[in-house]
Amino acid sequence: MKEYNFEEQELINGLIEIMPPEVSVETLEVISYKESSYPLHCFTIGSAPKGAPTLLLIGGVHGLEKVGTHVVISYLSFLFEQLKWNTDLQKIFQNFKIVAIPMVNPVGVAHNMRSNGKGVDLMRNSPTEAIDKSLFLIGGHRLGNFLPWYRGRKKDPMQIEAKALCDKVKSIVSQSTHCLALDFHSGFGLKDRLWYPYAKTSTPFSAQNQVEKIQALFDKTIPHHIYKIEPQSDQYTTHGDLWDYLYDWKEENHPRHNFIPWTLEMGSWTWLKKNPIQLFSKLGLFNPIKDHRYSRTMRRHLLLIDFFSNITKNNEVWKK
Ligand SMILES: [Zn+2]
Repeated sequence: MKEYNFEEQELINGLIEIMPPEVSVETLEVISYKESSYPLHCFTIGSAPKGAPTLLLIGGVHGLEKVGTHVVISYLSFLFEQLKWNTDLQKIFQNFKIVAIPMVNPVGVAHNMRSNGKGVDLMRNSPTEAIDKSLFLIGGHRLGNFLPWYRGRKKDPMQIEAKALCDKVKSIVSQSTHCLALDFHSGFGLKDRLWYPYAKTSTPFSAQNQVEKIQALFDKTIPHHIYKIEPQSDQYTTHGDLWDYLYDWKEENHPRHNFIPWTLEMGSWTWLKKNPIQLFSKLGLFNPIKDHRYSRTMRRHLLLIDFFSNITKNNEVWKK
């Protein structure tokens, strides 16, 4: 089967070409869709042993929110270029790792769909059920893939893409003691929101205390940061959230592990407000279209990712 050719895949192939020796890449899965194949790539940065603290960077779970994939690719390219000459940075990666999956849902990204090729919303696809009442449809449903936010059939296994992500996270958590994840999305509200679990309930999750420590450090270190930090359930409650599922899995299997998954929800309504014509394009609802706004978005989150790298490495300040 021939590999489907599209912009984001080309950007990832470009990253593979400029990989420095500290970086390796693996194909977690190859998805087939309408006579073409779509590889699901995962980069590991750093030669650190398996137990090293790890920062996970995830993009493109929702294919339409391409900006997430672009932010992760931009960061990797920034890192790969620096690793070629910055010897201090090379040393950091001797006992710290970044694992990046820039495009979890390549079929969705290629064809401008929120869901995967089977019409399933991957962020509603885990077996986790919401405890608090979730919004009709948006919170996830099993009516059918003719509607967005479809969870898939109850008895079916998780979708290939969702399972590949979960298996990777589980293997990292099983082998380490500290892991933070940043999953890049877009589309909700005017502000850039940094969400932590749960999506299923407004009952606080067990790492609330650690989140508060990280937030206090973030506010002190970067006092002018732009992010609104809150549990996801402050905005809405959903079924099937992959990070809820992974967090609960961690609690059951590795209760002492320090794992906190975060989601960056880039507020796309600002892009709409400044350029209302975007309202008429499906991609424009979720992505910055004008060149200068695109460049600014790519730069805007470098500091956030840097902070998360540093806080993952220096975990004594927030661990239990
Ligand atoms: Zn999303």
